Amino acid sequence: MLYDLIIIGGGPAGITAGIYAARQRLKTLLITKSFGGQVAEKAVAIENYPGFEQISGQELIQKLEKHLRKYKIDIEQDEVIKVEKKDQHFFILTNGKGKFQSKTVIVASGADPRPLEVPGEKKLIGRGLSYCVTCDGPIFSNKTVAVIGGGNAGFEAAIFLARYVKKIYILEAGSKVGADQFNQEVVKKIKKIEVITSAVPKKIEGKKFVEKIIYQDNETKKNKTLSLEGIFVEIGSQPATSFIKDLVDFNERDEIKVDFETCQTKTGGLFAVGDVNVGPHKQIVTACGEGAKAALAAYNYLSRLEI
Ligand SMILES: Cc1cc2nc3c(=O)[nH]c(=O)nc-3n(C[C@H](O)[C@H](O)[C@H](O)COP(=O)(O)OP(=O)(O)OC[C@H]3O[C@@H](n4cnc5c(N)ncnc54)[C@H](O)[C@@H]3O)c2cc1C
Repeated sequence: MLYDLIIIGGGPAGITAGIYAARQRLKTLLITKSFGGQVAEKAVAIENYPGFEQISGQELIQKLEKHLRKYKIDIEQDEVIKVEKKDQHFFILTNGKGKFQSKTVIVASGADPRPLEVPGEKKLIGRGLSYCVTCDGPIFSNKTVAVIGGGNAGFEAAIFLARYVKKIYILEAGSKVGADQFNQEVVKKIKKIEVITSAVPKKIEGKKFVEKIIYQDNETKKNKTLSLEGIFVEIGSQPATSFIKDLVDFNERDEIKVDFETCQTKTGGLFAVGDVNVGPHKQIVTACGEGAKAALAAYNYLSRLEI
């Protein structure tokens, strides 16, 4: 079947694009690895999405997904591994051997957690090392853990973990933390959280499960060791773009360049929205806004094709 539009990604950007496309009566397929994206992993409540003074990530995403499913739209749970364009049509290949064809594509694949890239990390993923506090935090009841990263994500992770664990170290590589004032004040009040700055992770050790982290104290240049049972990596994210290479241009952070009037990439009919593009403000509301904008731009593009 030839679709008018294929959307890649089921986070806030992709879901909103789906709602707008369906309302324009575009024959649309949304392919996503999972619903929710980063919002589903958010540890503390969301307080800046208009209309909801406070809502959990899980609840917001359930509402968005329910809204999308009200409309006539095809949904595939799968991972896109390649996007190609031939003779004015896009061909999308998935891990599950799906092969789909469309006239336009919206890439809304967001971002994946950035790995630490230190020895021991890969081996201990799922064995005490995690990139998702909401998924794995409760398993660490009464244990000692470290959160790597002193930005808002790291601070919020520590605040969430404080409900379960015995002791939390926040390790920040810089000489100052990047978390905003509000999060810093909350953390100051939680006695079991200890913030260590100028701490650069060097190695994670453990026979079967995480046992210790070795970091360099950047002030003394000496290595130090913390014994612990869990490590949560919260050092930002990297755009999920491995499936799309030649059809788009990237900036130095691997984000897709777009024209912000339409969110179109350098390829006609191919759009990129939300955290995956070069937009500086990575937020739920901006991702939704771009999803809406691109779906309407895709509709206009298709209308022009048909003239
Ligand atoms: C810890 C944390 C806290 C945050 N707190 C807030 C907050 O309080 N308020 C706020 O506004 N924003 C917050 N954000 C930012 C917000 O979550 C993102 O800006 C938003 O989720 C971006 O939406 P998106 O749809 O572009 O991408 P994502 O949410 O990353 O969704 C991407 C989707 O694409 C799918 N996907 C990826 N690759 C493929 C592929 N190859 N094939 C198929 N599907 C694929 C994924 O499964 C996912 O469903 C937070 C982010 C984090 C990490």
